[in-house]
Amino acid sequence: MAPEAPPTAGLPLHWRDLRPGGDADLGAALARFLGVPAVQIECSGTAALVIALFALRSVEPGRDEVVAPAYTCPLVALAAAHCGLRLRLCDLRPGGLDLCPASLARLCGPRTLAVLPTHLAGRVTDVAPVRALAHAAGARVIEDAAQALGARLHGDACIGAGSDMVFFSLAVGKGITLYEGGALAVADPDLRAACQEVAATRAPWRRGWEWRRSVELIGYAALYRPAGLPLAYGLPLRRALARGDRVGAAGDDFDGAIPLHRVGQWRQAVGVRALQRLPAWLAEGRVRARQRIAWLHRRLPALQVLQDSPAVAGARGTWPNLMVLMPDAASREAAIRALWGRGLGVSLPFANALPDYPRYARHVSHADGEAWPNARDFAGRVMAISNSPWLDDEGFSQVCDALQQAIGGAA
Ligand SMILES: *Cc1c(COP(=O)(O)O)cnc(C)c1O
Repeated sequence: MAPEAPPTAGLPLHWRDLRPGGDADLGAALARFLGVPAVQIECSGTAALVIALFALRSVEPGRDEVVAPAYTCPLVALAAAHCGLRLRLCDLRPGGLDLCPASLARLCGPRTLAVLPTHLAGRVTDVAPVRALAHAAGARVIEDAAQALGARLHGDACIGAGSDMVFFSLAVGKGITLYEGGALAVADPDLRAACQEVAATRAPWRRGWEWRRSVELIGYAALYRPAGLPLAYGLPLRRALARGDRVGAAGDDFDGAIPLHRVGQWRQAVGVRALQRLPAWLAEGRVRARQRIAWLHRRLPALQVLQDSPAVAGARGTWPNLMVLMPDAASREAAIRALWGRGLGVSLPFANALPDYPRYARHVSHADGEAWPNARDFAGRVMAISNSPWLDDEGFSQVCDALQQAIGGAA
């Protein structure tokens, strides 16, 4: 089989990461890495969000709405539904990932529990105006940094440090991984204690889940390499594409059940060992991204590469992949037809804007009169190109050729 590039530059595990014993306090290790007082480890990014929402709800029982971007991971909608909260969706600014302030101002009010500015694909978005609008309405800000572990702000502060809460995903393909895992940092000590209390009752030790995730993590360590990815990633992807299932191909086919359980010592120790390699891995990724962005700009001036929000001075995001916007939806479709499932690490981050998945429609409030034009335009033009080192220059050049053809052919 031909080698296969993964869709993102996840940190590969070493066999020695899996040995027993060692420091098993991943929360403390991540707190040191992020430069925050404490980090709570949960069994997924979604679980971290669920715990955060339940804790907020316990101190703000009168607030029952969550505001999230209209282009984001469907798991956010499932988390809000799990907590019995109404999800209201905010449009994006044109051609970018920042929340649209006008749309946000319409959505924030006395029932807003939390607003979730989101840093997709490691890109640092502009949270300051979100914080101002949310806090003026009495709502909290939970930054969704599921895809941005290691992103920094001016003066090396970790992303999310200025907000009420921030969570990260430790799932496959997102930074370091425990197969499934999540991390939550909470600024206010009382709220932090509330989150720990909620987790103690809602996410207890469940031996069956930990056993299953441990086996999955070993399987991942075995297969997350160029020779294993055609089987572990490429085969199911190509099957989904062959049956025309884009939601499945994008990995967006979640069922409503959200497992909630404590993460065991062994998986935490694996995370502590992998975390030691993360800074160097992210630095290499940044260099590779910079070179390839320059390459894209030279060869394909009609293509827009998503950058950190220019409104955030000193932002240094991470580069799991390069998110690009094609000039229009027709050229994006042409490019996706040519490249998705070809082993070159090109994919759709999410198949649709969140209001446009039939299977999640009942979790999304459509009563707002919002049409989310910018988020839908974004969803129709966006693509992701892997920033994994396993997509070599030859492969990247093939991607560029196909993009060039798609742009030329659609014009
Ligand atoms: C993956 C993801 C989540 C959920 O994290 P899991 O660890 O997969 O549960 C939430 N938000 C965004 C933007 C994500 O990409």
